[in-house]
Amino acid sequence: MAIKYELIKECKQSGARLGRIHTPHGTIETPIFMPVGTQATVKTMSPEELKEMGAQIILGNTYHLFLRPGHEIVEEAGGLHSFMNWDRAILTDSGGFQVFSLSQLRQITEEGVTFRSHLSGEKLFLSPEKAIQIQNALGADIIMAFDECPPYPADKEYVAASTERTYRWLKRCQAAHQRKEDQALFGIVQGGMHRDLRERSAKQLVDLDLPGYAIGGLSVGESKALMYEVLSYTTPLLPKHKPRYLMGVGSPDALIQGVIYGIDMFDCVLPTRIARNGTTMTSQGRLVVRNAKFARDFTPLDPACDCYTCRNYSRAYLRHLIKAEETFGIRLTSYHNLYFLLNLMKQIREAIMEDRLLDFRDQFFLQYYGSLTTETTF
Ligand SMILES: [Zn+2]
Repeated sequence: MAIKYELIKECKQSGARLGRIHTPHGTIETPIFMPVGTQATVKTMSPEELKEMGAQIILGNTYHLFLRPGHEIVEEAGGLHSFMNWDRAILTDSGGFQVFSLSQLRQITEEGVTFRSHLSGEKLFLSPEKAIQIQNALGADIIMAFDECPPYPADKEYVAASTERTYRWLKRCQAAHQRKEDQALFGIVQGGMHRDLRERSAKQLVDLDLPGYAIGGLSVGESKALMYEVLSYTTPLLPKHKPRYLMGVGSPDALIQGVIYGIDMFDCVLPTRIARNGTTMTSQGRLVVRNAKFARDFTPLDPACDCYTCRNYSRAYLRHLIKAEETFGIRLTSYHNLYFLLNLMKQIREAIMEDRLLDFRDQFFLQYYGSLTTETTF
């Protein structure tokens, strides 16, 4: 087995899980947030900085690396770890999500998806076999099955047919997988917002005894209440001794709630995407540092934060750099936002260890959102 999940304990107050995932590139403490390195880099961050802020695993995007530079080049470099000089764990997605969200003129058949590159317009084809072949070449520790993430809202009939096809694709992914000894293939539970479809999908996947399970098709425009409802009946169907990954979720409230619903792994582009226009996450809530009111504010971005940015630079300086479109400003806000989420997960792990995650949630929500409940949509 490429990876092994070790359940350390469950929080007596919330039921949340504290664990470890042992991978060929080190051990990951869970629950964990995974920074996204779309094009073989977490935008503007060096591997040394990522390690310094405590990142234990990062994500790479198969779709982007397939298009550019091409998986053959990454393989020739010795795989993604060596290509990007990252010796800790990596997870690659299957490319499915980007094919459906970024590319044009896609056409789905039983065989796979034909689409046009969003870069060159070239006509390309991805199938379960191809997605696994690319991920085998990239060499990440955890790889994902090729699935369709159905749009929201969608007809139940469409979601049902799509979920069945995703299951057939998963079996083809399993058959195509050439590196089972050092790459763990995760399946993705789909089924939209329908309980019966989620239950059927989860059961089919669990019967295949995979190394780990992801929950896909959430955070796609539904309300947070609906997402939590789906999680509340989906996660209990997944085996206790395998890791569970909620895809594309990274707002602080959803991370905490997701952990309470039994999730171990999360990824999201949110911290680096919002950092680029000067939006930051602080212990007192969201702060848009490019706002005029910070022009003469020489205090740290977040006085409660001990990251490199907050230890050394002021809000006034960050505002100036962001407004002047200086790369260094984006680096500093990205660093802080990633540190903030990694540190939040660390605090969550400590709270699980001490059986007080619900108390931690209430305290965090009051301080960050000013209320015990958070906004209702993504
Ligand atoms: Zn900071």
